[in-house]
Amino acid sequence: MIKHTVRKGETLFIIAQKYGISLSSLLAANPNIKNPSLIRPGQVVNVPKAAPQRTIVIPRESYGYNEMVSDLETLRESYPFIKVDSIGTTVMGRSIPVVRIGQGKKEVHYNGSFHANEWITTLLLMKFVEVYAKAYVSGKKIGTFNIKSLFDSVSLWVVPMVNPDGVQLVQGKIDTNSSTFANALRINRGSRDFSGWKANIRGVDLNDQFPAYWETEVSRRASSGPSPRDYTGTAPLSEPEARAMAEFTRAHNFRLVSAFHTQGEEIYWGYRGFEPNESQQIVNRFIEVSGYEAVRYVESDAGYKDWFIQEWRRPGFTVECGHGINPLPISQFWEIWGKVIGIFLMGMYV
Ligand SMILES: [Zn+2]
Repeated sequence: MIKHTVRKGETLFIIAQKYGISLSSLLAANPNIKNPSLIRPGQVVNVPKAAPQRTIVIPRESYGYNEMVSDLETLRESYPFIKVDSIGTTVMGRSIPVVRIGQGKKEVHYNGSFHANEWITTLLLMKFVEVYAKAYVSGKKIGTFNIKSLFDSVSLWVVPMVNPDGVQLVQGKIDTNSSTFANALRINRGSRDFSGWKANIRGVDLNDQFPAYWETEVSRRASSGPSPRDYTGTAPLSEPEARAMAEFTRAHNFRLVSAFHTQGEEIYWGYRGFEPNESQQIVNRFIEVSGYEAVRYVESDAGYKDWFIQEWRRPGFTVECGHGINPLPISQFWEIWGKVIGIFLMGMYV
C-alpha cells in the first residue's frame, strides 16, 4: 500500500489513473472516504498495489512495426498514464508513434531505429517503457534510482522507431509485388538480402539528413544517389521521417536527447565544439553505468544529435549499443539491456 498526498486539482479518478489501478480498487482501499467527489489537497489516500501485470514486451526475432504498435496499445491500456501520439508519417504512410511517460517539467527524448537494420534498439526502448511504468506503479526502485521522483520530475518522450518502412524492409515484410519493393530492390542491386540496409525505403540515410554541415556530409559520403546506407538525400530534411523528427524536436524543450544505434559500445557526445561543458560530465556517468567508451568527435555531420547540439547547445548523444554484424541477433538482447538501462535512467536523472 502506498500513501498518496492529494494535490490541487486531483480527483480520485486522476489518482487511480496515475497508479494504473481502477477507481473501484482505489475506493475499496479507502473506506473512510464517504463522498468520493469531496477530497481535498493535502489529504492522504491509500493506494493499493496494482495487480501484477503480465509481461507485454517480449524480445523476439523480427520484432517490427506491427509488433511495436500492438505492444504500445497494450502498454497504454495497462498503464493509463502512458500517452501515445504520432509525430508524422513515413514515405509509405505509416504513422510514427511517440510515447510519453512521466509528468515532470523537464523534457527528455530518446529514439531508436533511425537505421533500419538496428531495430533491436526499438525493443530496448519498448522494454524500458514497460519496466519504467511497472516500477512506477509498484513503487519500486530500479537499482538506486527512485522511480517516483524521476516520474514526477521528468517527461520522457520516446520515439521507438524513427524508420518503420526501413525496418519492415529489413525484416522481409514489404509486399514484394509492390513498386516500392521493386525500387528498393534496384537500390540494393538486385539482392533480396536487406540485412545491410540502414536507409529509409527510398534509400536515404535518415541520420544524414539534418541541417548541421549537411553539405560537408554530402562531399564526404561516397553514395551520390539512393543507397542502402550513407546517402544524404537531395536536401536536408527531404525525407518525411527526418522532417517529423525535426518538427517534433522543435515543438519541445528537450534538456537532453539520446539516439540509440548499434555497433561499437561507444557513446558520441561532442559536435564541433557546440556541446555544452556538462556533456562531458554526463557522458562520464553514462560510461560508469554502461562500461561503454566515450568518443568526443568523429568525422561525421548532419546527424540528429549533431543538429540538436548545434541548435540548442544542450547535451545530445548517439549511443552505440552492442557489437557484431547488423541486425544484431536477439540473443544479445539481455546483455545489451544490462548495459543500456543505466543510460536510460541516468539520462533522465542528470
Ligand atoms: Zn546507426
